[in-house]
Amino acid sequence: MTAKIIDGKAIAADLRGKVADAVHRLSRDRGITPGLAVVLVGNNLASESYVASKMKMIAGSGMRSFDHRLPKETSEAELLALIGRLNADPTVHGILVQLPLPAQINPHKIIAAVDSAKDVDGFSPVNAGRLAAGLPALAPCTPVGCILLAKTVQPSLMGLETVVIGRSNIVGKPLAQLLLAENATVTVAHSKTRELPAVCRRADVLFAAVGRPEMVRRDWVKPGATVIDIGVNRVMADGRSRIVGDVAFAEVAKIAGAITPVPGGVGPMTIACLLVNTVRAACALAGVREPAFGQRPIDDRE
Ligand code: NDP
Repeated sequence: MTAKIIDGKAIAADLRGKVADAVHRLSRDRGITPGLAVVLVGNNLASESYVASKMKMIAGSGMRSFDHRLPKETSEAELLALIGRLNADPTVHGILVQLPLPAQINPHKIIAAVDSAKDVDGFSPVNAGRLAAGLPALAPCTPVGCILLAKTVQPSLMGLETVVIGRSNIVGKPLAQLLLAENATVTVAHSKTRELPAVCRRADVLFAAVGRPEMVRRDWVKPGATVIDIGVNRVMADGRSRIVGDVAFAEVAKIAGAITPVPGGVGPMTIACLLVNTVRAACALAGVREPAFGQRPIDDRE
């Protein structure tokens, strides 16, 4: 068997097109131009490259972008003051603080300081709590992107066995919550899970969010399963640096029914979903019905 390759690049481009349409209509009909502020502290090379891609996509969608670069010596109080100003700025509908932050700044304090209505990363305790409670929320972009990718192959996840490897607050846990909301049966595995290959083999849809290059092997995957690879790992091969996922792509593609490549799978969807969240946040802040992006509206608050 040779797996269908889930083309995250193309699916993300399609979603960005829908975002651009929505931005155009919001601006033309309501006079609202969604605005996203991106805050980068220090000069971590990977973060700079992520921020550059995000800024490019924000501009391409017709949104307003606000670029805040702060030196690596920035204090927690200075960053909190900036967040306070962005929270109060009516032209800013989304705030993204690029992680990791320098050691002198407590990331939990910063994440909690972002107004939950502008928390387009979906990391704040308020949005995490709302998601866990099954209430409308701004959900983290990577897990939302994973669900959208899986649904291009399995339009309904209802009743399917799903396994998520990884339980971080930004990927594994919110992904599990989103899968529950899709009525999937969910197992969350982690570094203490026993018999991990056997657990993974139960999955109709397997999600790997570990950060270990090519850890998931062919014999971990049920024939025909859908495999969503979230991992981004830089490795050296033949004297060259390249990016691989958490799944041994070449061998797993021989047994899976469908698989995401790395790069070109989950990564582009993460940025597209960030744009979606910004439009959703702008609509909710303005009290305007949000366009249908396949998620529960966030102004539908109980
Ligand atoms: P974390 O390091 O925060 O979490 C990793 C998780 O994997 C933990 O829950 C850990 O378990 C688990 N784990 C580690 N080793 C093993 C093992 N041997 N067996 C089973 N489970 C294990 O990572 P993130 O969730 O932030 O990211 C995961 C991957 O996804 C990374 O490669 C990251 O770069 C990538 N990523 C990609 C994004 C994208 O847009 N494509 C966005 C965000 C992340 P435990 O909790 O027990 O320690």
